[in-house]
Amino acid sequence: MISLCIPNLSGNEKKYLNDCIDTTYVSSVGPYVSKFEEYLARVSGTDYAVATSAGTTALHITLVACGVQNGDLVIIPSYTFIATANAVSHCGASPLLVDVTYDDWTINIDQIQEILNSKTIKSNNKLIYVPTGQRIAAIIPVYTLGNIAKMEKLCSIASKFEIPLIADAAAAIGALYKGKPIGKLATASTFSFNGNKTITTGGGGAVITDNQLLAEKIRHLLSTARVGITYTHDEVGYNYRMTNIAAAVGCAQIEKLSVFINRKKEIRQYYDAELKDLPGVELFPNQLDDGVCWFSGLVLDSEVAVTDMIEILKKYEIEARTFWKPMHLQPPYQNCLKTDMSICEKFWNRVLTLPSSTGITNEELEKVVDVIKRNRS
Ligand SMILES: *Cc1c(COP(=O)(O)O)cnc(C)c1O
Repeated sequence: MISLCIPNLSGNEKKYLNDCIDTTYVSSVGPYVSKFEEYLARVSGTDYAVATSAGTTALHITLVACGVQNGDLVIIPSYTFIATANAVSHCGASPLLVDVTYDDWTINIDQIQEILNSKTIKSNNKLIYVPTGQRIAAIIPVYTLGNIAKMEKLCSIASKFEIPLIADAAAAIGALYKGKPIGKLATASTFSFNGNKTITTGGGGAVITDNQLLAEKIRHLLSTARVGITYTHDEVGYNYRMTNIAAAVGCAQIEKLSVFINRKKEIRQYYDAELKDLPGVELFPNQLDDGVCWFSGLVLDSEVAVTDMIEILKKYEIEARTFWKPMHLQPPYQNCLKTDMSICEKFWNRVLTLPSSTGITNEELEKVVDVIKRNRS
């Protein structure tokens, strides 16, 4: 079977895991956690990184630390993985859903601007969404497939309206924006190290920020808000820490980050070059220089074409899948406040993801391309 996106554990993973067992540092404190955090801050070009138990918990705790509360609204793109919306819900807040733009599948900044300019007022230092009277407490741009949103414009809007920007950079580790690392683009950014991401810790995540107070607050909150080594806890905290075992895998993985990203880009370039001229085929939005091409694939001309192609590929033992379904079409989020969604509605169900594992061989890539070509010309 040629898998869609599986971990590549060909480095020092075993060695570092053995070290955890030999030293008994298997739990939430240990040298690999600190080392992994140092690596993460460095590759992101920022000062602080806090490792967490998942990408979802990284987002949740960052929202809490930025003051998002029960009853608030948080602006997010409808086209995202459900974790973005769930993290908002876990705060007791609700997503205010906006569309994406087709050129990069990231958040539609014009729609945000329109909402903030025409539907909000400032009252008691709070930004109030007039139609419901709720506070807009944050904006979460999502770096879809590792494509960075148009952050200059978004940052200037966020600072004008004084709302925190929390980037869901789940799959964007190692990405650049205008040639520079992404760690200082938002108030804070979060990564996921789930099994299908570019680097994995089995399950895990991290928050990166250049704000020392915010980093300290997050670190305190995610370890039960414990005061020192006493059993005094000064607020309601969380148990969202990464274990030393997970971080050991992370340290081995991050040593190969640039190798993995280069391979992801080669995979994208190969599919694009081989498949671009087929009828009824559009390519994934590309940020080949700065992006990280987490997943590669195609946008076909209909939903049926996607399901048919998945079946055909399966016969040749090639795994392919659909991709994200927008939040406004999901049962828990279908009644959320939302803008016009005509862009994501036009493409989301025509997306076909193709094998994108960093360990895929050139022969396997050729086989995938060959099967698609024979069935779509
Ligand atoms: C993977 C992913 C997450 C969630 O991460 P987990 O580690 O699975 O909790 C969040 N947002 C996006 C956009 C993702 O792709």
